[in-house]
Amino acid sequence: MTNEHRFATLAVHAGEAPCAATGALDTPIYQSTTFVSASSDEMAAVYGEQKFGYMYTRYGNPTLRGLEQKVAALEGGEAALAFSSGMAAISSSILGYIQVGDHVVAARSLYGAAYNFLNKKLPRLGASTTFVQSTLVEDFEKALRPTTRLIYFETPSNPVLEILDIAALARLARSRGIPSMIDNTFASPALQQPLALGVTVVVHSATKYLCGHGDAMGGMVIGPKEYIHELSHEILRDFGGVMSPFNAWLILRGLRTLHVRMPAHCSNAQRVAEFLDQHHAVEHVNYPGLPKHPGHELAKKQMKAFGAMISFEVKGGYEGGKKVMDRVKIFARAASLGDTRSLIVHPASTSHRAVPYEQRLAVGITDGLVRLSVGLEAVEDLIADLDQALAF
Ligand code: PLP
Repeated sequence: MTNEHRFATLAVHAGEAPCAATGALDTPIYQSTTFVSASSDEMAAVYGEQKFGYMYTRYGNPTLRGLEQKVAALEGGEAALAFSSGMAAISSSILGYIQVGDHVVAARSLYGAAYNFLNKKLPRLGASTTFVQSTLVEDFEKALRPTTRLIYFETPSNPVLEILDIAALARLARSRGIPSMIDNTFASPALQQPLALGVTVVVHSATKYLCGHGDAMGGMVIGPKEYIHELSHEILRDFGGVMSPFNAWLILRGLRTLHVRMPAHCSNAQRVAEFLDQHHAVEHVNYPGLPKHPGHELAKKQMKAFGAMISFEVKGGYEGGKKVMDRVKIFARAASLGDTRSLIVHPASTSHRAVPYEQRLAVGITDGLVRLSVGLEAVEDLIADLDQALAF
């Protein structure tokens, strides 16, 4: 497989390696921690990297390698590295660039743990982050310092679906000779390919759309070969956030249908967003597929479709949000996203309850905000479920 093939062909075939010994078509799960060498010389050569080979799963594993090749192909990147979770991928990829005294410029609207890592953990290592309080590229530029070593962002963002200009942020970083890094979890490479827009590194919670079935945790980092090599040797080996071979196999399997699942997720989400937008019990809807969304035109330019994450403000504030949660019958009251099943969360009473009110409000996480991950059920059933839940 080469990156010249079309996305659907890559999704099905890239990285897959039938078993040479048995002819088994499906990529085997190499559920082994260690690998045997034929001689002491061979073992020394593999350890010394004079010869390619596997020795220990934290250093590499054929099932993980298959996944890394498939994800690199889908993102159009030189190389990829698998991690045990999205957060292992995010923290490791940032640590791959950052040293004592360095500074990061980051978007304000980020997944909570990524925000915490940048805000609370980096200072413990002697580095700092400025969070830009707007979506304007000029404001990212103003936040840059001589010590800035990275621009980090997410688009569409969690949970308020802000849209940032990927190409412009990548250009800004390159103009200063520093890398840019994007969390592409909400879009997946089926909808958005940031490397082609000039971004240096893409990170993923593979737990979400890449896996697609809510049954495996994982994280991926995709970027230049040299950087991925260093990340593998200097960070992953020592911090140890390695993915299990079984999870790699589940995510490989999920990826084979990514190009089929994503359009179905998106068309369901568009219908749900349009329904919510005209509902009398809904104050407003955050979904980039609605023409009134402030990032609609930009999303149209940089995404193939608008994704399947929606958040909306219910009338009645905190109690209104909880009421919808309690009344849904098909949507599962569950964290995470990107599952075949539709999921619903109320950030103010769950994921963001510890965030001070003013801080929450500043990034649009109001009391009545409800977030949906729209799944693959019949859209009429999803709309009917929300309609009965909102009848108050
Ligand atoms: N990035 C985004 C946008 C997420 O929504 C999440 C988790 O919800 C993560 C990263 C973290 O991924 P994981 O839970 O696999 O560590």
